[in-house]
Amino acid sequence: MTDLHRLSIRELSEGLKQAQFSSRELTEHYLKRIAKIDPKVKSYVTVTAEQALIEADAADVALKSGHAHALAGIPLAHKDIFCTQGIKTTAGSKMLDNFISPYDATVVAKAKAAGLVTLGKVNMDEFAMGSTSESSYFGATGNPWALDHVPGGSSGGSAAAVAADLAPIATGTDTGGSIRQPASFCGLTGLKPTYGRVSRFGMIAYASSLDQGGPMARSAEDCAYLMNVIAGHDAKDSTSVNKEVDDYVANLNGTAVKGLRIGIPKQYFNVAGLDADVKARVEESLKKLEEMGAILVEIDLNMTEAYVPTYYLIAPAEASSNLSRFDGVRYGYRCENPVDLMDLYKRSRSEGFGAEVQRRILIGTYALSAGYYDAYYVKAQKVRRLIQQDFLKAFENVDVIAAPSAPTTAYKIGANLSPTEMYLGDIYTLAVNLAGLPAINAPIGFDKDSLPVGLQLIGNYWSESQLLSIVHQYQQNTDWHTKRAAIAEENA
Ligand code: GLN
Repeated sequence: MTDLHRLSIRELSEGLKQAQFSSRELTEHYLKRIAKIDPKVKSYVTVTAEQALIEADAADVALKSGHAHALAGIPLAHKDIFCTQGIKTTAGSKMLDNFISPYDATVVAKAKAAGLVTLGKVNMDEFAMGSTSESSYFGATGNPWALDHVPGGSSGGSAAAVAADLAPIATGTDTGGSIRQPASFCGLTGLKPTYGRVSRFGMIAYASSLDQGGPMARSAEDCAYLMNVIAGHDAKDSTSVNKEVDDYVANLNGTAVKGLRIGIPKQYFNVAGLDADVKARVEESLKKLEEMGAILVEIDLNMTEAYVPTYYLIAPAEASSNLSRFDGVRYGYRCENPVDLMDLYKRSRSEGFGAEVQRRILIGTYALSAGYYDAYYVKAQKVRRLIQQDFLKAFENVDVIAAPSAPTTAYKIGANLSPTEMYLGDIYTLAVNLAGLPAINAPIGFDKDSLPVGLQLIGNYWSESQLLSIVHQYQQNTDWHTKRAAIAEENA
């Protein structure tokens, strides 16, 4: 079969169960595509071909026994921020270029237990700080829709791998948009779950009160399958919530949109940098949802202007604390011939971390230092609470809130935005993390340069099933999610 990479997760699951093809054939198919096509896309940092085939053979044995998990034998790619025992985990940094974790992240362990086959680890912005994946120590990844454009970030490798059909599904993480924005730039569906739904254990920490892992895939249905595997309580993550997990696949239904009240925040459509094509596509998608029975309600989210400054204080503050563990002694990179301990710390950190990471450590350390803590950090925490309350008030009147995922489509690699320009591009995604809410990106068409545009739907706490169902129903009535980049049509 030459077109195994065109099958959905449900089709792959059924094909494997009915022995139309084996996991080994499927895995070899993907490995061949990666070998041929990924040199152009550069989505993978590490390809684990040998190990993948061993896992595929084990899945084939389980499949023959008739007791396999629904996803047994299906390949996936992990963002290189999830620790993988025996396989390098770099977080896109020179600091961890030689780091092999002694244990698996819970997300990785759960995927393995379900029989999913790990194809490899995919590229990302260094320590997940960025929106382009260009800050990776391993170089930029191309957007499959236009290889000289960025795939978004920080989970840009995950998005590019799926959009080029180099993996059927991938894991990502989202601290301030890193699942939704690359999904938007690459024409994919990506879900950022409620804070506490997916374990952070073994996920290299960026900003711990905001970080959350989630699925990236072609459709809401594919995301639902992966959510069924990775969601759930984990005693090893103290912020993981002990709450029953939905069956996200069984809950998909064709009735989520009728009567659904969708809030349209006035402030979101007056943002200065909002691209005209993005705005037009978002409005068209909302019109479509209205035709399907949704009710559009204009709402106010008065704190919009506070999103970027609040996030860019809290996230660097937490990052500066989290990244203090990389000291040249215990993990990763160590400078050569240090003259004393201070020199070892200083040079290991200034040689091991890239410019954006160092910038954030400086901002964060400043904001947390004596004399500035109350003026910056405590104040930002108070504003964070107001942002959350703004959403909770809105949810008294609407079921979900619609927004673009990003103000623009993918820009060129090397566009060299200033840090503030780049931070402003996160305006639509940051508040969701500050409030701990779930949100999803769905592909809804293209701009004048044929680059994908995404719609973001923000839900109330624990509404993952609802968000997936809304997008699933939209995808049953439209075909944007079935469009493939030319490079994905290439055969290996
Ligand atoms: N672009 C945002 C940042 O640079 C979000 C990144 C993320 O979600 N990991 O912090």
